[in-house]
Amino acid sequence: MSYLPTDASDFASKAIDGFVAAHPRHVQRIDGGVIRLAPIPSGQVGVVVGGGSGHYPAFAGLVGRGLAAGAVCGNIFASPSAGQVVQVGSAVERGAGLLLSFGNYAGDVLHFTLGAERLRRQGIDVRIVTVTDDIASAPIDQPELRRGIAGGLVVYKVAGAAAEAGLPLDEVERLARKANSRIRSLGVAFSGCTLPGASQPLFDVPKGRMAIGMGLHGEPGLSEGPLTDANSLAALLVERLLAERPADVPEDQQRLVVLLNGLGSFKYEELFVLFGAVNQELLARGVVLADCECGELVTSLDMAGVSLSLCWLDAELEGFWNAPADSAAYRRGAPTPLPQAQHALLARFEAVEKTLEQRVEELGALDAVAGDGDHGLGMLRGIRGARQSAIHACTRGCSTGEVLMEAGEAWSDHGGGTSGALWGGALLAAGNSIAQASEVGAAEIAAAFDAALQAVVGLGKAAPGDKTMVDALQPYCLKLRSELEAGVALDQALQNAAASCLLAAQATAELLPKLGRARPHGSRSLGHPDPGAMSLAYCLIAATQAQPAT
Ligand code: ADP
Ligand code: MG
Repeated sequence: MSYLPTDASDFASKAIDGFVAAHPRHVQRIDGGVIRLAPIPSGQVGVVVGGGSGHYPAFAGLVGRGLAAGAVCGNIFASPSAGQVVQVGSAVERGAGLLLSFGNYAGDVLHFTLGAERLRRQGIDVRIVTVTDDIASAPIDQPELRRGIAGGLVVYKVAGAAAEAGLPLDEVERLARKANSRIRSLGVAFSGCTLPGASQPLFDVPKGRMAIGMGLHGEPGLSEGPLTDANSLAALLVERLLAERPADVPEDQQRLVVLLNGLGSFKYEELFVLFGAVNQELLARGVVLADCECGELVTSLDMAGVSLSLCWLDAELEGFWNAPADSAAYRRGAPTPLPQAQHALLARFEAVEKTLEQRVEELGALDAVAGDGDHGLGMLRGIRGARQSAIHACTRGCSTGEVLMEAGEAWSDHGGGTSGALWGGALLAAGNSIAQASEVGAAEIAAAFDAALQAVVGLGKAAPGDKTMVDALQPYCLKLRSELEAGVALDQALQNAAASCLLAAQATAELLPKLGRARPHGSRSLGHPDPGAMSLAYCLIAATQAQPAT
């Protein structure tokens, strides 16, 4: 594939040196590969990708903010060594652990696994997610045997965005696995590729034929078929891939990221012709193209071929797929870091989730006294849904008010029960109130809490003294107002209001319920506080004390 006389022995490393020289704004060279130039904040999970060379833009081209922190770069078509994995991993580790992600090839699995073990001996938490999108390489019931091809972009992108959003390693790993489980690819080749310095291609495709399901390194295809035109090829690829729709996606609710990948010698114009046909095929089948890429994403030196990848999105994956990224070969959106206010807001959601995790049994037991015992679990489901959607909204660059509104909708969807509807309504109203304001200061925050109270009262029709969360929320709002009017600084006022809220919640022990599930067994609850009032106080205390991660 090389036109200039070439020394094959150092071709790959010279190519990486030159790549780094050509992209000084994105990457820096280290022993073992490349790492991103943008500083990696402490506490951010390091996503490390890698594999053999000869596949540009995989893998070095995908290193940058919102994508991989580093790439381990092997020789042409050869896995990097475990030592290289250790070098790149150590260079991007910031105390939150590493996610290693790469295509499922025996050599890569071996070396990355050994490298991971060595990094773990240094005390680093390391997870591995192999990409297994190539449907031609193993049957559907053995997905773990499948190879990784162009679909890796979605896995790396989602993992990189999750890391950039500050998510912990568990979550980054979970999201990478989820992305991998929902992406399928299939490729065809029209001619083989030639190693640098070699005179013969690695394999041949007979004239007038095409290899279906060939590998990225010239591995033989699934089958060989007659060469067809773009429309027939599009139909073939789309049909085989859609047949592997994930089990949990209804046929009429498919939102896809579509990647049409050129493998090296397939010209962009011809890719576009084929993409047009793929687009028609997909639209005819009623699926929604949420997003697409058409170009060289993973190449195989100068192989003439294409691959099509489909990723079935859900709301969570879509948020991370759409998040900004800035690498040499893949850029998206304005790569703005999360504003401070959004960081603080997410820290509050996280703190509330932690508190509810700790209190789930206590709240359930309180609810069991006169209600149905589900309050702790309902609250936990609600906050988890709300926090996920807050993270997505923040990564999309939504304002504080919008983030709260989306979180409110998610809380009602996930939380269920009376409290789910009331918390959802409260967050929605608070977010709406803030979204109307031109700034978010003390007055706007107090107004947002008042709006939340109004929403709870409007929806649930509880009056003070009915033994509900209103008996804690109303004193909170009153105290916050009076503190601010007395000139107390916002942080202190919020703390004092939360303390009053807890006292008021505890005082509901003396009340008899007049509303809700607890009413029929009301007298039993005398001496026990109202679960919804207590959970509100716990949440407000946790939210007030939360410190954003720096
Ligand atoms: P469910 O009653 O549907 O099982 P939960 O157990 O999650 O829902 O929540 C119970 C809490 O919801 C109560 O402790 C109370 O604080 C709150 N609640 C119930 N009904 C009302 C209402 N009409 N107005 C305000 N809060 C209410
Ligand atoms: Mg209940």
